[in-house]
Amino acid sequence: MIPINQWIKIKAPATVANMVCGFDILGFAVNNPYDEMEMRLVNRSDNQLGSVLGNVDKPAITIINIDDYNLPTAPEKNVAGAALIALMEECTTVDFSTLGFEVKINKLIKPGSGVGSSAASSAGAVVGANYLLGNPFSKDDLVRFAMNGEKVASGVKHADNIAPCIHGGVTLVRSIFPLEVIALPSPTLFVTIVHPQIEVRTADARSILKQNVQLKDAIKQWGNIAGLVAGLMKGDYDLIGRSLEDVIIEPIRSILIPGFDDLKKACKAAGALGGGISGSGPSIFFLSKEKQTALAVEQEMKKLYEGLGLAHHTYVTTINQEGVTIEK
Ligand code: ADP
Repeated sequence: MIPINQWIKIKAPATVANMVCGFDILGFAVNNPYDEMEMRLVNRSDNQLGSVLGNVDKPAITIINIDDYNLPTAPEKNVAGAALIALMEECTTVDFSTLGFEVKINKLIKPGSGVGSSAASSAGAVVGANYLLGNPFSKDDLVRFAMNGEKVASGVKHADNIAPCIHGGVTLVRSIFPLEVIALPSPTLFVTIVHPQIEVRTADARSILKQNVQLKDAIKQWGNIAGLVAGLMKGDYDLIGRSLEDVIIEPIRSILIPGFDDLKKACKAAGALGGGISGSGPSIFFLSKEKQTALAVEQEMKKLYEGLGLAHHTYVTTINQEGVTIEK
């Protein structure tokens, strides 16, 4: 266990979920942007806040936001707190009537951007806590705990951002209950992301989806998912490119994102392998084999949104293979 009061620094990457055909099951972590966090274990009797609240028989979690997003600090309302509560409930090696966690969060991933802002806080908190406690939990346990944070953010316990945030790389969530996450290998891929500064509510992005799928579409989609997984494992860029096609979700969701169809055409023409909506939007991502292509894709994204007069932010980055890291 790390000594009481000693701060550790945590880096929690952004993630792209709903990887084109892999709606709700395939996602990957990126090297930029990422959240910065600090965490420490404290003696609850030394914890001013704990004693003011007279709250000593509950797990003590203190959240300190050091960014301008004004996110909740009540542990059960902040995704980091919700994830920690789940971890503390299952931890048998520490007496949380005497010990608690302090968590400082500096969000560099804008909440609601569609690149896993909530997942970064939840995953960062449980990986940090596990390290402070001497690593009693497995990665699968940590994914399970962090999913409680996603429930706070979107009402649903999903793992498609959490799994890549904790494992790094590309992950496949084969099943949620019981949880089965498979970390997939991938060849070098460059990722270009654009975040148009509009709001797409996750609830809206879910509610417009059809509840039934035509068999012919399902067959196409599972061919693409299998092709994408095989392409990633074989390092076959052409197969990856051919498989980055979504015939079920994208045609419906893309209407929420201005300029989506034109952007897709322009990015493909610039040489991208393929891409689509990140999470439930509004961010859009494209994958490229070469860095120059990823930069050309970025120019297309800027050109399109400047033309539409829409404020936006772009990133050119690579797949993050480590997931959440602790600075030692
Ligand atoms: P994203 O895909 O960017 O994570 P979501 O809409 O899924 O976006 O999650 C953001 C929501 O979660 C916001 O409503 C935000 O207020 C809430 N939230 C609570 N705590 C946090 C946190 N620590 N980090 C990010 N979002 C949080």
